[in-house]
Amino acid sequence: MKDKKEKGLLIVISGPSGAGKGTIYGKVRQKMPDLKPSISVTTRAPRPGEQDGVHYYFRTVEEHKRMQANDEFLEWADVYGNLYGTPKAPVFAMLEAGEDVLFEIDVQGAKQIKEKYPDSILIFIMTPSFAELEKRLRGRGTEKEEIIQKRLGSARGEVAQYKLFDYFVTNDNADEAAERVAGIIAAEKYNIMSNEQKIQQLLAERYSD
Ligand code: 5GP
Repeated sequence: MKDKKEKGLLIVISGPSGAGKGTIYGKVRQKMPDLKPSISVTTRAPRPGEQDGVHYYFRTVEEHKRMQANDEFLEWADVYGNLYGTPKAPVFAMLEAGEDVLFEIDVQGAKQIKEKYPDSILIFIMTPSFAELEKRLRGRGTEKEEIIQKRLGSARGEVAQYKLFDYFVTNDNADEAAERVAGIIAAEKYNIMSNEQKIQQLLAERYSD
């Protein structure tokens, strides 16, 4: 039987601002270097050390709107005043090639991905409590009170949508949370539905009379 490649997994790490999803994403990528990152388009300015095409594709609002109009995004959202979006073509090319793709995006985007791609695996990251989330948002030291309150309000709305997700991981400690996320991904690799072709091949070659 011809060895047809199984489609890759689409895994989304999401959660409220301040929950630590960026840190966990970085740690999971270190633990699982075979996961391919989805590189988003953003209209925000690059931060020191960020490279175009590596961390993000830095584009103008006009360019982002043109990509929206051309249906080039798998999902896009306005995240606290900046536009973000996932270019569709590279993600589908990687999945078709059997690569597992890891996303780190906001909850609005995660929701759109689940609607368009129900096989996606959505992981929600949250602090152990709202008090802890507030502490972390304040701890950044860069945000004004008004912004902190806005993000806390959004976080309540995002947590209320937990049922859209497949997994809920509490980030009490970033290393442990990353360990849990890596465990979820490792287990998903053995999911029967996403490995159907491989299992059928195994049954035909080794377990038939
Ligand atoms: P930052 O600008 O700090 O890198 O990211 C700000 C927020 O935008 C984070 O919550 C991040 O998860 C989210 N984000 C990054 N890329 C995308 C994307 O392509 N789509 C959506 N919906 N959110 C994104």
